[in-house]
Amino acid sequence: MNFNINKIITSNGHLSDEGISYCAEQLIEGNYEDLPEELLSHIEECHKCKKNIFAAYDNLSKPSGLVDTEDKTKAKFPVFRSNVFKIAAAIIILFGLFVLIQVSIKNSDNKLSGNQKPAEQFSDDTVNNTQQKTDVEDDIASSDILAEDEVNAERDLDEQKTYLTDHFTPSEKFEAFVNATFRDDNDFELVKPEKTQEFKINDNIEFKWKTNITEPLTLIFYNNSGKEIFRSSQISKTSYTLNQSFSPGLYYYKLETEENILFFGKALFKN
Ligand SMILES: [Zn+2]
Repeated sequence: MNFNINKIITSNGHLSDEGISYCAEQLIEGNYEDLPEELLSHIEECHKCKKNIFAAYDNLSKPSGLVDTEDKTKAKFPVFRSNVFKIAAAIIILFGLFVLIQVSIKNSDNKLSGNQKPAEQFSDDTVNNTQQKTDVEDDIASSDILAEDEVNAERDLDEQKTYLTDHFTPSEKFEAFVNATFRDDNDFELVKPEKTQEFKINDNIEFKWKTNITEPLTLIFYNNSGKEIFRSSQISKTSYTLNQSFSPGLYYYKLETEENILFFGKALFKN
C-alpha cells in the first residue's frame, strides 16, 4: 500500500478505514513505531481510532481459516510507545547466550572424558549410538571417534541454537501488548502470576486477580510465533489454575471477556 497521509486521515481528523488497516498492518509487521509522528500522536490521544486499529489488528493477526465472530470494538488499545519490550527482548537474548555458553562448556567436558569411553556419551541419541557402535565394530582409532564427537557436539550446539531461536525469540507483535493497560476504568488487577515470570515446564500456574467484572472470562495462551496453543473458558471470577504442560519456550497469554481484553502477559517455560 502506498503511503498517502491525505488518504489516511479524514477531514474530521480521525483515521480513515484505509488508515486503520494501514496502521494495523504496520503493527503486525513490527513497523508501528515508524509511522509518521502526526499519526502516532493522534492515535495515542484518540480512543476511537485506537480501538478501531486494535479490532483490525486482532482480525488480521488471527490464524488463517478462523473466522472472528467476537465483537472487539470495545477493546482498549495498549500503550505502544514504550521501550519496555525492547529491554525485555535484550534480556531474553542475553539469557539465550548464557544457555549457549553453558551448553558449550558442557560439551567441552564431554569431549575430554570421551577419550576413555566414547560410546556411552550420547545414550539418548539413537543416531549417535548407531554411528558410534559402527565405529567400535570397525575398530577405528579413538582419535577419529573424538573428531566425530566434535562434529556431533557442534551439531548438538546448532540444534540448541535453532531451538532457542525458534522458541524463545520474542514476538514483536505481542511484545507491544504485554502488560499494557486495556481498560480505562481500572477495574481489573492481576495479582498472580507476577509480570513476565519464569516457570518450569510442568509447573501449574496459578492466576489470581481482583475485579468487579462479572462477565465470563477466557484465558488464551499463544506461543512466540503467535499460534494459539491453549484456550479455556472454564474460569472462575477471581482465579484459575493452569495445569497444562508446555514445551520450553516463550509464551504470551491473554485474559479477556467477550468484549474486552483484561490482561496481556507473557511467561517463559524452561526445563
Ligand atoms: Zn481519531
